[in-house]
Amino acid sequence: LVTHTHTHTHTHTLTCDLNIMNSWSPEALVRKSQEAKEQAYCPYSKFRVGAAVLTSDGTVFTGCNVENACYTAGLCAERTAISKAVSEGHKSFKAIAIASDLEDRFISPCGACRQFMREFGSQWDVYISKSDGSYKLMTVEELLPCSFGPDDLRARENH
Ligand SMILES: [Zn+2]
Repeated sequence: LVTHTHTHTHTHTLTCDLNIMNSWSPEALVRKSQEAKEQAYCPYSKFRVGAAVLTSDGTVFTGCNVENACYTAGLCAERTAISKAVSEGHKSFKAIAIASDLEDRFISPCGACRQFMREFGSQWDVYISKSDGSYKLMTVEELLPCSFGPDDLRARENH
């Protein structure tokens, strides 16, 4: 982790320098997701969510929920973060942390996001957190058992 003392208001300009985690910790990834939550655009639900996904090479991409006046066009924080990573050439993930303002519940990814994560493998880690930063570790497999994925499409080609 590249530690820094800048407040989150400075992270926009320094994102490229600070988003490499050479040695990461779940706590640091959760903190990144909490920082991303600050950018949440949620004028309708007022339910802020942040996510931070860690790639195999140690790069972190963050995301927040981005709502829309056409409600169904809105996007979750997890899919925002993963899409940012994929669009920058990263498809191998170690972990994702998710943060919300819920004090007494671990924030649970929605079904669409679970499927979105599963596209890139079932055996990687999901840290779901409470607002105080405490977290619970689950795998994508645990969140979405008996899932349908890329291999299932390929299996059909072999018939
Ligand atoms: Zn979602």
